[in-house]
Amino acid sequence: MAAPNIETIVSLSKRRGFVFPASDIYGGLGSSWDYGSLGVELANNVKQSWWRWLVHERDDIEGLDSSIIQNRLVWKYSGHETTFSDPLVDCRNCKGRFRLDKLQDVTCPKHPSIHPGEDKECDLTDAREFNLMFRTTVGAVSAEDDETALAYLRPETAQGIFINFKNVLDTSRRKLPFGIAQIGKAFRNEVTPGNFIFRTREFEQMEMEYFCQPEDAPGIHQEFIDEFQKWFYSLGISGENLKLYEQTKEELAHYAERTVDILYRFFPEREDEEKQFDELMGIANRKDFDLKAHSKKPEDAEGKRINPDSTEDLSYFDEATKQRFYPYVIEPAVGVNRTLLAILMDAYTEKTNDKGETRVILKLKPELAPIKVAVLPLAKNKPEIVAMAKGLKKQLLPAMRTVYDDTGGIGKLYARQDEIGTPFCVTVDHESLEDNAVTVRDRDTWTQDRVNVSVLRDHLQERLGKP
Ligand code: ATP
Repeated sequence: MAAPNIETIVSLSKRRGFVFPASDIYGGLGSSWDYGSLGVELANNVKQSWWRWLVHERDDIEGLDSSIIQNRLVWKYSGHETTFSDPLVDCRNCKGRFRLDKLQDVTCPKHPSIHPGEDKECDLTDAREFNLMFRTTVGAVSAEDDETALAYLRPETAQGIFINFKNVLDTSRRKLPFGIAQIGKAFRNEVTPGNFIFRTREFEQMEMEYFCQPEDAPGIHQEFIDEFQKWFYSLGISGENLKLYEQTKEELAHYAERTVDILYRFFPEREDEEKQFDELMGIANRKDFDLKAHSKKPEDAEGKRINPDSTEDLSYFDEATKQRFYPYVIEPAVGVNRTLLAILMDAYTEKTNDKGETRVILKLKPELAPIKVAVLPLAKNKPEIVAMAKGLKKQLLPAMRTVYDDTGGIGKLYARQDEIGTPFCVTVDHESLEDNAVTVRDRDTWTQDRVNVSVLRDHLQERLGKP
């Protein structure tokens, strides 16, 4: 089972402290969200899983953390200043503003039962291009519109990688093929953000640019498509909720040879099965576009430099063939927030207890769970039990994230931990004082095992698996 819709996750998130509406006490700010104590742990665990898998466990990828604000010329030569836009239409009747290619994803503010443009009253303007980059000014400038101080908040992390290609190559002494990975915030002034954390104006990306010989690019591209599906499975996302989508020639970015999106069933409530899926990540073969675009040497047909501002050439010299060329780039680009949403939706399960009550269980992989163990005293008015439970929490803490909770009856405490995905509860009872053993309760099966305190840490670590 998975969550029946995003709304279920929105309310769970707010109730239990995963994600809150941003600026809530001032009326909110459309489609901005803050990550609470559990949300930030889950997001960190997702990012660590990605980083460990790509940067640490493979031996061909380096990490990077580049600036959010770069020289404006980065965005001129990447093409973002001229082409990073969405087609925008206004409705003269309802005054709504919509993205032309996403009309089916939104409803008319006046008639929520229809999509914009579906009623004769809808009076849509012609589309005009709206650039999605957030503008800012750098330094103490006198006028907000001072073009010489204009800068942008990065709309993707990728360009920071391309402009550092030579720095990383020279300092790491890598040879092709190799990759550079980066996790960080990106900003897009989306026309129609929405669906909780699916589309926001501030979000986080995990991007990797893999540089290779042109002839190897198609094979490496396919490998990453296969590998990323497996990575999502390893995060607990089920195959039936994932789907591949091959972008058509018309949809491909002008520089892309082939792009495959991995889609997740974010909208299971939609009748049309096709429409239940939307993009979780994209994996593109960008050819040699990016390194060429930021290099000083390449010339156009008339012999003019295509980039007269760059001071560097980002080509690669192959010692074996004595050839100099611009490497091809395979780019797997994942959204942290969409991954987190997919994980929460897929982990959501309901179970009926023996009293006939419905309980929510978040079946998160232990590796991702914000809290690994909750230590609970069966009787909070018995000082010896409380002391033993608090002592156990202290013992476990350095090895695994552990909490202590005595703010309710044991049934309520178990339910609370199930709902936030804590894999194990450790209960200290009257007998524990006699036999130095505790009960370990499993989140998914609700089975209970008696474990001696002397081996508790090892027992839990083994069952939790990967750190
Ligand atoms: P979409 O078509 O949904 O706008 P995109 O194809 O423009 O997405 P990319 O530029 O390929 O997205 O970015 C890579 C990933 O970053 C996406 O697959 C998604 O997971 C994430 N992402 C992009 N835009 C947003 C956003 N506004 N909010 C949250 N995540 C986003």
